[in-house]
Amino acid sequence: MEQKIKGNSIFWSLLKLNIMPIVILAVIITSYSTTRFATSMNQEVKNGLVDLCNTITTIYDSLYEGEYHVVEQDGAIYMLKGEHLLNGNSDIIDSIKEQTDVDVTIFCQDTRVLTTIMDENGNRAIGTMVSAVVKREVLEAKQAKFYPNVMVEDEKYFAYYSPIIDTQGECVGMFFVGKPSDEVEQLVLKSVSPIILIAIFTMILAGCVTIRFSKQLVDAIRKTEHFLEKVSQGNLHAQIDYSVLHRKDELGEMGRYTVRMQKALRELIEQDLLTGLNNRRSGEKMLSQLWRDCEREGCSFCIAIGDIDHFKHVNDTYGHACGDAVLSQISTAMRRHMKGKGFAARWGGEEFLLGFKDMELAESVASLEVFLDEIRNMVIAYSDDVSVSVTMTFGIVQGSTDSKIEHIIKDADDKLYYGKNNGRNQIVK
Ligand code: GH3
Ligand code: MG
Ligand code: MG
Repeated sequence: MEQKIKGNSIFWSLLKLNIMPIVILAVIITSYSTTRFATSMNQEVKNGLVDLCNTITTIYDSLYEGEYHVVEQDGAIYMLKGEHLLNGNSDIIDSIKEQTDVDVTIFCQDTRVLTTIMDENGNRAIGTMVSAVVKREVLEAKQAKFYPNVMVEDEKYFAYYSPIIDTQGECVGMFFVGKPSDEVEQLVLKSVSPIILIAIFTMILAGCVTIRFSKQLVDAIRKTEHFLEKVSQGNLHAQIDYSVLHRKDELGEMGRYTVRMQKALRELIEQDLLTGLNNRRSGEKMLSQLWRDCEREGCSFCIAIGDIDHFKHVNDTYGHACGDAVLSQISTAMRRHMKGKGFAARWGGEEFLLGFKDMELAESVASLEVFLDEIRNMVIAYSDDVSVSVTMTFGIVQGSTDSKIEHIIKDADDKLYYGKNNGRNQIVK
């Protein structure tokens, strides 16, 4: 058999053909839904932060009258709303943090004066500054802005900054509301993980189904391939696996055609065209097989050689075609008679070889007597006015695996010769 590269087998091709689209589809669905979910999550967080910021503004407006303004004293800066000092009073932002789990900061200019964010030592990050980007984009531009990824005290935040504008239109500070990014990311992951799990499960399931069905298909192809390999090596009696022939698809059909092709080939090579019996070449093979079988199984066997008497006379009197008809009919009867007993082959022109398996000489002779009687009584109607009857002479011997096949045949042939010289129409044993 020719060497095949693993990747070139039909099994791998089928697997690739089926699995690849599923994997691609699963990747597309998973990444699309993850992106979509993350986007809508961002939007939702953003809206939540904007709403919360507005709520905080409203709370401060309702609690403390007046405008926000900044006072600098002794190098320190203070944020006031009306007359009320905001610095140091964290009750409101703490309760918001407690209820919403969102961090809140009030900036005086670019400095944190009130915050729920703690530094690495566990103290409130008061006095720390906002990043240069936020300062420029919110404080100086006087624009509220949402950041999906901003660093605050070494932690990434989803953050919303809203400028605090005084009556003169100056920006005096900012509100900050924010949620740590990893909290949001974990939430996204938690929501998307069932989709990923379903995708992986679907891929595994599809993979298993594909492997199962591909294996069945490839199995049938391999069995047919092995069968054809044996046939191509000259084994015309090789058998294809039964399961292939039982398939109802194209592979089953292919298997059945292959078997028919083997049979046709076998007939062409092993069968005699005129008589339908095994030809000499096949007869020799069957004889060797019989000899081997009996040697292995320890069974007895007999070999007979038969020849039609005065056949030349039939040809000469009624013509060659009539001779052919006689040969054909005798062969048909012979094949029928030998069924279940062994085999029959056309050994030469009007000469036949018979092999009796698992039979002693007496039993074989008795069987042959029955056959010879059938021939004697046979009237072969060649045409409306020509009917022919013939007789045959047989030489038969008990086979032995101690003797060579050639010697056994020679013995049978000698007996046939003796029969021919001593009146014909008889069985010589
Ligand atoms: P014997 O009883 O001694 O066997 O005499 P016989 O005439 O049968 O033997 P012989 O060997 O003299 O003749 C055999 C004849 O069989 C000669 C040959 O033309 C004929 N024959 C061989 N093959 C065929 C065949 O395929 N078809 C026909 N019609 N005749 C054949
Ligand atoms: Mg003859
Ligand atoms: Mg002859």
